[in-house]
Amino acid sequence: MTRKLILLCTLFGFAFGFGQKVKFDKKKPKDQFINEIISQMTLEEKLGQLNLPSSGDFTTGQTKSSNIGKNIEAGKVGGLFNIKGVDRIRDVQKVAVENSRLGIPLIFGMDIIHGYETAFPIPLGLAASWDVLAYEKVARVSAQEGTADGINWTFSPMVDISRDPRWGRISEGGGEDTYLVSQMAKYMVKGYQGDDLAAKNTMLACVKHFALYGAPTGGRDYNHVDMSRWTMFNTYFPPYKAAVDAGVASVMMSFNDVDGIPATANKWLIDDVLRKQWGFDGFVVTDYTGINEMVEHGMGDLKQVSALALNAGVDMDMVGEGFLTTIEKSLQEGKVTMKQIDDAVRRILEAKYKLGLFEDPYRYTDSKRAKAEVFSKENVAESRRIASETFVLLKNENQVLPLKPNSKIALVGPMADAADNMPGTWSVAARFEASVSVKMGLKDKNVVYAHGSNLVDDKVLFDNSTIFGKKPRWDDRSADELIKEAVEATKNVDVIVAAVGESSEMSGESSSMVNLDIPLAQKRLLQAMYDTGKPVVIVLFTGRAKTLMEENEKADAILNVWFGGTETGNAVTDVLYGKVNPSGKLPVTFPRSVGQIPIYYSHFNTGRPLSDEKSDGCTFEKFRSNYLDECNTPLYEFGFGLSYTTFDISNLKLDKTTINQGGSVKVSVQVKNTGNYDGTEVVQLYTRDLIGSISRPVKELKGFQKIFLKKGESKTVEFNLTTEDLKFYNAEMKFVAEPGEFEVFVGNSSNAKLKSKFELK
Ligand code: BGC
Repeated sequence: MTRKLILLCTLFGFAFGFGQKVKFDKKKPKDQFINEIISQMTLEEKLGQLNLPSSGDFTTGQTKSSNIGKNIEAGKVGGLFNIKGVDRIRDVQKVAVENSRLGIPLIFGMDIIHGYETAFPIPLGLAASWDVLAYEKVARVSAQEGTADGINWTFSPMVDISRDPRWGRISEGGGEDTYLVSQMAKYMVKGYQGDDLAAKNTMLACVKHFALYGAPTGGRDYNHVDMSRWTMFNTYFPPYKAAVDAGVASVMMSFNDVDGIPATANKWLIDDVLRKQWGFDGFVVTDYTGINEMVEHGMGDLKQVSALALNAGVDMDMVGEGFLTTIEKSLQEGKVTMKQIDDAVRRILEAKYKLGLFEDPYRYTDSKRAKAEVFSKENVAESRRIASETFVLLKNENQVLPLKPNSKIALVGPMADAADNMPGTWSVAARFEASVSVKMGLKDKNVVYAHGSNLVDDKVLFDNSTIFGKKPRWDDRSADELIKEAVEATKNVDVIVAAVGESSEMSGESSSMVNLDIPLAQKRLLQAMYDTGKPVVIVLFTGRAKTLMEENEKADAILNVWFGGTETGNAVTDVLYGKVNPSGKLPVTFPRSVGQIPIYYSHFNTGRPLSDEKSDGCTFEKFRSNYLDECNTPLYEFGFGLSYTTFDISNLKLDKTTINQGGSVKVSVQVKNTGNYDGTEVVQLYTRDLIGSISRPVKELKGFQKIFLKKGESKTVEFNLTTEDLKFYNAEMKFVAEPGEFEVFVGNSSNAKLKSKFELK
């Protein structure tokens, strides 16, 4: 459209009432209603709907006079995020509804990643529960609390597969596996959005970061991604697609490039894959200043990159205001079309319509609800229950755990008394002051406590690792003094509990690391503890897979608790004393060494695998695919996790040995609790496609079931494996199940050895 035409339209608009408050007939059917709004909008108002600023600083009552308030009044804002508090939100909504010309309500977004004020375990921990109902429950409670406090859009679930624990944001997703993360995507979307987006306690979900954000080169955040189409479709895309299939309302583009083009301007990704192939009909938002960052990517100036993003199919511009400030010019120059702008506006208005905001813009701003439903007793109790499900017992020599009720314990380590770290990374709304540290959780037990060491020796690293001010206590005494005090504390105790590992901000955004060992300062403390000769139980805090060779060798028990949320300390106590028997399983491979990364169970066989008879993975063989100085196998494999009891899985049966396309095979096993405690086991089903038109992974997770068995009890567990489960994208990018032989494995980790075979005709 030319400049003249735009000017004419604007004049025409004002002549027919633009500039005065416009009212719309809410009773009209959706499409008609939205068309009517669009027909009344000026170009500036349209671009305003595509603009998503972060709230900035203003106090309730002053909204109107704040900068953001003025922009809202002028119709230049479509939604706001990073604003907290039901009264503030109501205030802002009032400005949009009452003072802007069209009165279009705003949507309010927030990173409600693993709980709102009630914090739940970080997503990587949540994944470790292998409990789909827990995935759904966390999202449900998040939506309930968030909507009670005015928020109706969450930037979650984050479903970026990651096979590189150097990448700090591995903590925010479900780990390395396509199937497990897809389950998480599906159940979390269900939890947030429910069946009806217009219900008062459901919110828009936003799957992110599309796409491949979890595969940056070198594990360095925001870095370049290089990946074959074939790996994208078979491994990295399915979780995003699972969210789309579950009806996710919005998609956030990632910062990285895909095939050299930043995702934010990648038309193939948004238009072809997301919208055309997958049928996504919601709206697409950039990540924080994603458009502006394309200038740094070398894609042009702000005007150019904003036009690229709109052309690619982006609807909403987070923070950067590229759309707001440059699209008019691009329209005049014919670089974008009014149709593209209208389509984007329509998608945003549709989301608002689905939320019921046109019917009642104050639907989510009932302060009575906020008081009753946020951080309720029930939600906090759920957080404790779910946290204990996510802990993974990595080692338990001589059954040192569970602790005897009367045992005297020394509690040491910089993470023992770090209450404000317990919610973990990305807990923007968490009630930090109410979170429970390990020390607090153990307060009624027989405990002596000593700090023992700082998080790290280096103060600069310490400050960078605690950048949002959530600091495990920094003690100015020397390392030797701290250790001496800790050793002193162990004098009369039966067992040592060492709460060590990472601070909560050592993982999460912009927290990549090349060294995955427990920091040296803490290793020295641990060594002093081993030297006492008393049993040492490590309670490990981490947002990623760590390298734990030394700890695995020297500690008696290791309980990996990730960051368990508000109730971490109580949940840790429940598990340490056996009130809850641990059942978590690793959603990521724990390497022996950083040099093995990327290491994942679902790898390829290569033409030169280590020979089967030496398959401990640690015996070097010349001219085979292995390392001179390290095993091929990880320290702890994907799907691994111990219990206080033991389980025997046997009697693997398939109901048929051949199936046809469209058919299915029933796989069953007998699972028996053979130990001394009641307990829960995650029974895992893997397949291997033995011959394919492209090389196939040595194992792929295809199903799991979490079952509770009383001591001595046994149960039959049955899986239905369909040909749909056997499909993959072949070299022509066709999604097919190819005829041939398949192996089936069932077990309690990805090392499952029990196996059988069937043939697909
Ligand atoms: C992150 C997103 C997040 C957004 C809004 C970005 O820095 O990459 O995951 O949703 O900020 O807070």
